[in-house]
Amino acid sequence: MTKHTQISDEPVVVEVIAHSNFLVSAGATNTKFLNSLKDDKKILGLTCPKCKKVYVPPRLHCPTCFVRMSEWVDLSGKGTLSSYTVVRYKEPYMPKEPPFAYGIIQLDGASTGMPHFLGGVDLDKIKIGMRLEPVFKEQREGSILDIDYFKPGS
Ligand SMILES: [Zn+2]
Repeated sequence: MTKHTQISDEPVVVEVIAHSNFLVSAGATNTKFLNSLKDDKKILGLTCPKCKKVYVPPRLHCPTCFVRMSEWVDLSGKGTLSSYTVVRYKEPYMPKEPPFAYGIIQLDGASTGMPHFLGGVDLDKIKIGMRLEPVFKEQREGSILDIDYFKPGS
């Protein structure tokens, strides 16, 4: 005969205050990508030598072909909005004050979509399929946030 234990279904609440400060190397591939944003206001991609997909942000290996990629391509930075959402709540980790929008931008010449913020447009005027172009910060530091946002463009 099996003995059954009565388990409470009261929720358990555990308060955790966690702080963690650490540095992570961006690696050679992302360092080149981020330095290009900082120094040249250029968005770079990497092309797979086998399937010819262009990855932005770049990655070292093609996830489809499992081959190493080393052929860099300069993109214009212009692209098309493929999806988006509007954020209306505040969380401490968010780099912008709500309400704001971010979306997936299909950059011209890229095979992958790049997530980033949308700006320079009323939130209720954002439309999937709209053309976009990047707005870079004046003070850049080698971060994906060196692109302040994508605004309506040609
Ligand atoms: Zn490939």
